Amino acid sequence: MHHIFQRHCHSELPIAVKGEGVYIYDQTGKSYLDASGGAAVSCLGHSHPVVRAALHQQIDQLAYAHTGFFNTEKAIELSEKLTHAAPGDLNHVYFLTGGSEAVESALKLARQYFVEKGELQRSQFISRKQSYHGNTLGALAVGGNELRRKPFAPLLMPTEHISACFAYHGKDASESAFDYGQRMANELETRLLEVGPETVIAFIAEPVVGATAGAVTAEEGYFKRIREICDQYGILLILDEVMCGMGRTGTLFAHEQEDIQADIVTIAKGLGAGYQPIGAMIASSEIHNTISQGSGFFQHGHTYMGHATAIAGALAVINAFEQEALLPRVQQAGEILQNRLSECFKNHPFVGDVRGRGLFRALEIVADRDSKKPFSACSKLDSQIKAKAMELGLICYPMSGTIDGKNGHHVLLAPPFIISDAQIDELTEKLFHSVDTITQTLFK
Ligand code: PLP
Repeated sequence: MHHIFQRHCHSELPIAVKGEGVYIYDQTGKSYLDASGGAAVSCLGHSHPVVRAALHQQIDQLAYAHTGFFNTEKAIELSEKLTHAAPGDLNHVYFLTGGSEAVESALKLARQYFVEKGELQRSQFISRKQSYHGNTLGALAVGGNELRRKPFAPLLMPTEHISACFAYHGKDASESAFDYGQRMANELETRLLEVGPETVIAFIAEPVVGATAGAVTAEEGYFKRIREICDQYGILLILDEVMCGMGRTGTLFAHEQEDIQADIVTIAKGLGAGYQPIGAMIASSEIHNTISQGSGFFQHGHTYMGHATAIAGALAVINAFEQEALLPRVQQAGEILQNRLSECFKNHPFVGDVRGRGLFRALEIVADRDSKKPFSACSKLDSQIKAKAMELGLICYPMSGTIDGKNGHHVLLAPPFIISDAQIDELTEKLFHSVDTITQTLFK
């Protein structure tokens, strides 16, 4: 018995003592292939020598300087790299310490933008049912997972939720993928007209849905239509790339592949690759200029924002992407992983879908492949797949809530970008054994 307040109060976890490449080792020396990078964090694997050296050097030089008093050269360099890669006029980076802080800041920035413009009646957000945006109260309010929201409902700000573009569950056999995408995007327009577009601040969405639905990509044209609707009704578009960003889908920003521009983008996780806690919000010049020419002050801030050591780590991470040509490798390894998983699970009675983009992939577990009916009653599925995988030396990320925040199960994979082809084979084999053993035992 120890004194750590764990999320699952009754679980006993191994003690992690070492990390190397794609593996984590526990106190007994057992290795675990980290196929989800924790929660899509460790994109460079563990113990990357260049990142470690950058962190040591920064700590020796200056560990921390409050951003109310100083900028650092590395923060300036990192913000240049990020804004250079980001589509459109996303020119202003606000560094934070994680994903929830980034989303919370984005929501507040969007509201303040309209306050500066005198549009005080704008007080609500629209987001999607299949989404997760973080656990602070603002981020939780826009998130779609009902089970997570429920205990805190009276404390959450008003948010409207529409469906995500999720063809596996939503597309009619008679419509084209494009038409389905347009139909789903038009839900935003319908909802805006119901609630009054003049009351809405922004629409927020993950370009590729992560934890709640399992690597769900939108149909081509969906996000273009979303952008059009946001422009037509004068609301902002916030893209949450906390999980799908930082190269995970094969481009630095996932929404580069949607050929659209956002007003605000949030990133975290892969930005620090787990070496330091760091997140960021990147805002357009229009938003930044409106505030700088208005009150001149964004009413926000955190003590550890722009932490010098975290910035040094993140700069080393993004440099490693370039120097090791990792983004093309993500695309290539992502295809290999998809093919291996599809092949392995093609006849599995309880795996209905294998999907994703780049090294962001998922399996959906269903009771019946034809009807796509979920195992809605089984709450043990996630924890048992996770436990079996760990027994076999694999870290994967099983989650429930795939369909509507309550029903459905998937297993998310987000391995380090340095994963080799042989390690992809190891991942696939261990995952097959984990999913097969548990589903066959629970549902025979
Ligand atoms: N947004 C998305 C899309 C996420 O996946 C997450 C975390 O999983 C968050 C926000 C919250 O990030 P954090 O856990 O760093 O607060």
